[in-house]
Amino acid sequence: MPEIRLLDKSVAELIAAGEVIERPSSVIKELVENSIDAGARHITVEIKHGGISYMRITDDGCGIAYAQMPTAFLRHATSKIRTGDDLTGIMTMGFRGEALASVAAVAKIEMMSRQDGDELGGRYIIEGGEEKEHESCGCPTGTTIVIKELFYNTPARLKFLKKDISEGNFIAATVDRLALSHPDISFRFIRDNKSVRMTSGDGSLLSAAKAVSGRQFADSLIPVDFSLNGIDVSGYVSSPLFCRNSRSMQTFFVNTRYIKSTTCMAALEEAYRNSMMVGKFPACILNISLSPETVDVNVHPAKTEIRFAYEKPVFDAVYFAVKNALVNAADDKRQIELE
Ligand code: ADP
Ligand code: MG
Repeated sequence: MPEIRLLDKSVAELIAAGEVIERPSSVIKELVENSIDAGARHITVEIKHGGISYMRITDDGCGIAYAQMPTAFLRHATSKIRTGDDLTGIMTMGFRGEALASVAAVAKIEMMSRQDGDELGGRYIIEGGEEKEHESCGCPTGTTIVIKELFYNTPARLKFLKKDISEGNFIAATVDRLALSHPDISFRFIRDNKSVRMTSGDGSLLSAAKAVSGRQFADSLIPVDFSLNGIDVSGYVSSPLFCRNSRSMQTFFVNTRYIKSTTCMAALEEAYRNSMMVGKFPACILNISLSPETVDVNVHPAKTEIRFAYEKPVFDAVYFAVKNALVNAADDKRQIELE
């Protein structure tokens, strides 16, 4: 048995980064979430070659102070929580202080940022976890971050990526979800020099859904707005006539965070039980708002897996919200037919 030794910091960083950054779309998710937390009103995402060679995220959020730029890239450095107690009531998208450190470990990054009120902003370059440049410069308020050559120093990860087009599609789906979870923010997505998506940021989920999934889908949606035991469920579900062959259009947010939840999925499908053909699936865009103390988002670094303190009330709230919406929609339809 060889001697047991502590890993070099650079190796430990690569291992830790691997948990947060699986593919280009994970970078987009993390960085756009930072823009959301920074209070941005406009977020632009630009990618080339499925994001593998180039990704750029521009926001008009609060920016980072020049002196704090290196700190932002340290692991476990965050402005969002202070104490262990803060972990029980998380309302920001980020809080682990790991994203920038992780991306910086496995890519080449250039960040430009300026806080409102500062005359000059900063330019910070970091590659494979090593600072290359830090200088002041003029730039707009907010943050622009460019990521080049993702996984250039981890060939195993690079090899495991899919073709550009598939990676680009993962990113498009990620941007869509972020846009749907924040209809009050205007999102623009540019893929290989073509602007492919834009939401207005007017605050309406329906107009965001139109921009993301098309008018035909949006026009078929049934509104949901329901509260049960302090759990609010709002958004849209598809008409039972609008069947899908897969669950790919079931989108759930908890406190505006995109999550995967078998409980929510089961509740949705139970509500459609008698109105949809076997083997078909409903679509939805539902946000579940509940007290942050009753949900643990700190289960996995990617934060799409969460744990509800109590599953049953969440199931019930989603089930009755959807059931109620479907019954109302059917009543409305009958009413129109009678008139
Ligand atoms: P976390 O989001 O968990 O705090 P990150 O590594 O993603 O950790 O970011 C570290 C810190 O850098 C954040 O807490 C925030 O203060 C700052 N930051 C990152 N991105 C932005 C941005 N786009 N605008 C303003 N501040 C940012
Ligand atoms: Mg973050």
